Amino acid sequence: MKDEKERRSTSASRPSWDAGAESDSSGAATLATEIMNIMEQGIVVWSGDGYCELHNTRVYQVLELSGDDLQIGTLRADFRQKAVDRGDMSAEDRAYSDGKVQAHQPYAFDRHLPSGRVVLTSGRPTRGGGYVVTFTDVTEARQVARDLAEAKLAAEAAQTQALEILEEERARQAEAHMLSQLDEWLQSCKTLEELFEIVQRFMARLLPGGAGELYVYSNSRDVLDGVCQWNTEAMLPHINADNCWSLRRGRAYEFQRGELCFACEHVQQQAHDDDPAHYLCIPIVAHGDTVGMLHIRFLEANVPSGGVSDRMHFAARCGEHISMAIANVKLRDELRDQSIRDPLTGLFNRRYFMDAMRREVSVASRKGASFGLISFDVDKFKNFNDNHGHDAGDMVLRSIGQVLSDVIGAADVPCRMGGEEFAILMPGADAQAASKLAEALREAMPELRVRYLDSILPPINISAGVAAYPDSGLTPPVLLRRADEALYLAKAEGRNCVRCAE
Ligand code: GH3
Ligand code: MG
Ligand code: MG
Repeated sequence: MKDEKERRSTSASRPSWDAGAESDSSGAATLATEIMNIMEQGIVVWSGDGYCELHNTRVYQVLELSGDDLQIGTLRADFRQKAVDRGDMSAEDRAYSDGKVQAHQPYAFDRHLPSGRVVLTSGRPTRGGGYVVTFTDVTEARQVARDLAEAKLAAEAAQTQALEILEEERARQAEAHMLSQLDEWLQSCKTLEELFEIVQRFMARLLPGGAGELYVYSNSRDVLDGVCQWNTEAMLPHINADNCWSLRRGRAYEFQRGELCFACEHVQQQAHDDDPAHYLCIPIVAHGDTVGMLHIRFLEANVPSGGVSDRMHFAARCGEHISMAIANVKLRDELRDQSIRDPLTGLFNRRYFMDAMRREVSVASRKGASFGLISFDVDKFKNFNDNHGHDAGDMVLRSIGQVLSDVIGAADVPCRMGGEEFAILMPGADAQAASKLAEALREAMPELRVRYLDSILPPINISAGVAAYPDSGLTPPVLLRRADEALYLAKAEGRNCVRCAE
């Protein structure tokens, strides 16, 4: 007890490292003390019974302590309690190091001083049952390690991102390549039928795992006809525009099961093996006009792991390219139509008719077949103009065009030759069949009720002349002349009748 008191009183009045020198004034101890003070670390030597036996001056600086906090004779438990109170040492680290001390094993942990500095505390047991503890300022080293770890994470993230960008770029290039291939083929299409065939083949390759159909407005425009399908047999022959959300809303419609989405009625009508988990309907718009709808769906089993949003995006781009191609083919068709059709009635014009007749002569002569020709003219047509105006006359001509299209056969070629004169070419027909059709037309004309403004125009009558290849002639001009002669005969014999060439 006396020893203990002595120890405390001496340590308080002297430089702490001299304490050792006092108890043992040998040269070795002085040297040890000198060395300890040269060291950059703080050093404390604890006795086997837990008192400070020795420490250097550096320890105050490293641990940011004052002389009261540590002296020769300070009880180790007090010293540590203060460190916990200050917040230098966590309760966990104290429990950990206490455990090690009891087992007489080395330990190490970081102290985090309130100033922000980090001090590595490293205790090693001595042979006499005490401990030598070193305190090393590792603030910079720890910061460097943290920075290094952060830099490593950042580098890894950057690498991952670079790989993703590369992957995306590759996918984008592959898509662009496929789309340009699709475009090249679509551009070379001459007819819509060819175009549909190409769409069918390409879509199966462009969107593997997806299935779909293309629907295009029919000429009557009230329904859409199924024109091609890929990876499915579920195409409907027709769909109603009202049964598709994309057509009703005028923009692409994406359905995803489980989301707040409503399936289109045309999808519900289809006989699927399995309900689509995800589908897209894209209106096909050509020159501002909606001309059709592209439908693409993914079954549950085929939904790509990364979701289908990028596929859907790609599908939408395919839809744009298909729209453009349809627009181009339609435009070409329209331009071609303009050069071969009569704008008032929509029937073929005289030039086209003469070409068609030349083609028919060569076909029929090769096959040894016949064809019929009807030439007809409206009786007293001038009266419509004179009594009701030119517009009423136009209305009559348009109505005749309509009747012609309804009454004649699919292979027959109807034409407005000029004014109120018309002609029909009947491939494969003989004079008798042609006379029969001319008679049917003559009978159908007066039935026609042509409404003009508030009134119904008087009944229409026609006179017709019939000729046939090869009996009436062998060349188009001769055949046409023979049919016209028969027509004049009909006029001469009182109109509203049919006459055959000799
Ligand atoms: P017919 O029974 O002898 O054939 O008597 P028609 O009055 O029908 O014959 P005509 O050749 O005397 O008269 C034909 C009229 O058709 C003369 C012309 O003004 C008119 N016409 C020609 N082309 C058009 C057209 O595109 N629109 C209208 N409204 N009238 C036309
Ligand atoms: Mg006439
Ligand atoms: Mg005439």
